[in-house]
Amino acid sequence: MRNNIFYSIPSNIVSGKDNVFANFLQSAGLYDSMQIGEDNIQDLILLLDGKVRISAYCKECKEERVFTMEPYIHFDENVTGCYSQKLSEEVWGIQKSYILEDTPSPGGSVKKQNTEWKWKNCQIENVSRILMFQFVCGMNEEHHLDYIVLTTDNSMMKIGQYPSVADMTFPELDAYKHVISKEDRKELGTAIGLFASGVGAGSYVYLRRILERLIYQAKATAGDSIDDEKFKQARMAERITMLEGYLPEVLIKNTTIYGILSKGIHELSEEDCRKYFPVVKECIYQILGLWESIRKKQADEAALNKALSVVFSSIK
Ligand SMILES: [Zn+2]
Repeated sequence: MRNNIFYSIPSNIVSGKDNVFANFLQSAGLYDSMQIGEDNIQDLILLLDGKVRISAYCKECKEERVFTMEPYIHFDENVTGCYSQKLSEEVWGIQKSYILEDTPSPGGSVKKQNTEWKWKNCQIENVSRILMFQFVCGMNEEHHLDYIVLTTDNSMMKIGQYPSVADMTFPELDAYKHVISKEDRKELGTAIGLFASGVGAGSYVYLRRILERLIYQAKATAGDSIDDEKFKQARMAERITMLEGYLPEVLIKNTTIYGILSKGIHELSEEDCRKYFPVVKECIYQILGLWESIRKKQADEAALNKALSVVFSSIK
């Protein structure tokens, strides 16, 4: 029984964070692929149906905005003339037919349990080979965010995006400008630019270098509380554990990052590097985020102290 499909397309709006395809559009580099399967087809139908809102940096507004998309419509012709059709409903219809096929008929004889699963059929092949997801900024309908994918029977590959990943990511870095060194900021920009153009190993090398430097910076902050000699001899993974309290907890507790970091660049395929890039980038953001929050707290405290001393001296 194929039951991983809703009985009608839900009318509620979902956040892009909860939709695997919206996530893919937003975070994947060019020429990255993802599977389309029975387990995630519901997400694709919701996206095509215009039910997904994404939060992204708007290059025009110069701020984070909510973007929406109209349902994906295509036009077709038959003997009665031209008509428009919602692609989400057609994909959903194909999925529903699987459920009907798998439900035992009263006679109990005709069942097509072994029909090969597909998300599209020949009727929509032409219109779904290249899909354009056109998102519009919630503040101004002339601000666009467009993604283009190439689809096959079981996958989609991101082949285009405007504004580019780099255009949209550079402003994110501004949030950390007080705690990131010039060198790291420059290399992070290079890494993101390379990744956005589909370069795996090249972009990953930069990220790893930055992460290693940040780990050294955390050690400098920790000072003598961590033995220099032991730290020098430890593997990168062990160093992270030693720096508990100086690095974000998620990094200390999460063993995935150890595996990624301990792999030499020569052991990783181009595809692996592209796959790990967002995870390593997020680790860097977490570290910078932690340091920025500490810096902000100290700055706020200093400002409050100053204000209090002014009050104090005026009531003396
Ligand atoms: Zn905008």
